[in-house]
Amino acid sequence: MRLLLGKPLAEKLHERSRERSAALHARGVAPRLAAVSVGIDPAANAYQQRLSARGKKLDIAVDEIDLHDDTSERQLVATLERLGADPRTHAILLLTPLPGTLDEGHIVDHIAPAKDVEGMNPFNVGLLADGRPLFVPSTAEAVIELLKFHGVSLRGARAAVVGRSTVVGRPVAYLLLNEDATVTIAHSRTSDIGAVTRHASVVVVGVGRVGFLKGDMLGPGATVIDAGINVTPHGVVGDVDVESVSPIAAALSPVPGGLGSVTTELLLRNVLTATERQQRD
Ligand code: NAP
Repeated sequence: MRLLLGKPLAEKLHERSRERSAALHARGVAPRLAAVSVGIDPAANAYQQRLSARGKKLDIAVDEIDLHDDTSERQLVATLERLGADPRTHAILLLTPLPGTLDEGHIVDHIAPAKDVEGMNPFNVGLLADGRPLFVPSTAEAVIELLKFHGVSLRGARAAVVGRSTVVGRPVAYLLLNEDATVTIAHSRTSDIGAVTRHASVVVVGVGRVGFLKGDMLGPGATVIDAGINVTPHGVVGDVDVESVSPIAAALSPVPGGLGSVTTELLLRNVLTATERQQRD
C-alpha cells in the first residue's frame, strides 16, 4: 500500500507562497491574518500556534485574538465586524469548536466574505455549492490537492465521503463533484456504510472515531483519505484501522503525515489570495 504523504506537497505550496508573499511585501503590503478563538480548545489552540509558526516563515503576520470563554455572541460578532472593517487585516479565521453557548451558524454570517479564508460564511459556502469555489474549508481543499498531487484520477471515479459536517464531509463532496467524480455521502444515519464505501475507488473518511474504517468496508485497490484527528493516550490517530485496511487499499493518507501540513499551507495560501484580491479592489 502506497502512503500519500503530505510533506512534499506542503513544501511545494510553501515555496510558491513565499514568492507571492515576497511580491506583496515588495509592493509595501504586509499580509495579515486574524485568528480568533473563544475559550480554550486544545486542538484549535495547537492549530493557531502552527499557523503562527508557519506564517512567520512566509512573512504573514498572524494576530492571535483569544477571547474569554464567557464572550457573548454580541461581543464576538462585534470583534468579527471590527476585523472585517480593518484595512490592515486581510484575512479572518474563526477557530472552532466554539463554546456551546454560541451559535456558530449565526456568527459566521459576520465574517466578511472577502476575508473569509476558511470559507465559513454562507456566501462562500454558496459559491462552492454553485461550482465556483473561492474560499473553501482548508481540510477539504487539502483532500483534493493531496489526491491530485499523488496522481489519483478523479474524473468519472466513484467516490464515497463518510461524514457530512460543514468543515469536512460536505465541502469535500462538492469539491469531488467539481472534479467530475460520482459522489455518495454517508453519515451516522446511513444504514450500511460498507455497502457504500465498498463500491468506491476513492474513500474519504472524517467522522472522528478511532478505527472506524475497516478493511472489509473497502473494495480492492481503493484510495483512502483519512481526515480524522483523534487524540489518544498513544498519540494522534485518524479514523482508519490501518492494520485491516493495508492489505486491501492501494493507497492511504496517514495520520499523522497526511493532510495536516497541507491544510496549514492552504489556509496561508488563502491569506495571500485574499490580500492580493483586496489590493485589486
Ligand atoms: P463533526 O462535525 O462531529 O462531524 C462528524 C461527522 O461524522 C458527522 O457528519 C456524523 O454524522 C458522522 N459520523 C459520526 N459518527 C458516525 C458513524 N458512526 N457512522 C457514520 N458517520 C458518523 O466532526 P468534524 O468537524 O467533521 O470532524 C470529523 C473528524 O475530522 C474529526 O476527527 C476531526 O478531528 C477531524 N477534522 C476536523 C477539522 C475541523 O476543522 N473541524 C479539520 C480537520 C479534521 P451525522 O451528521 O449524521 O451526525
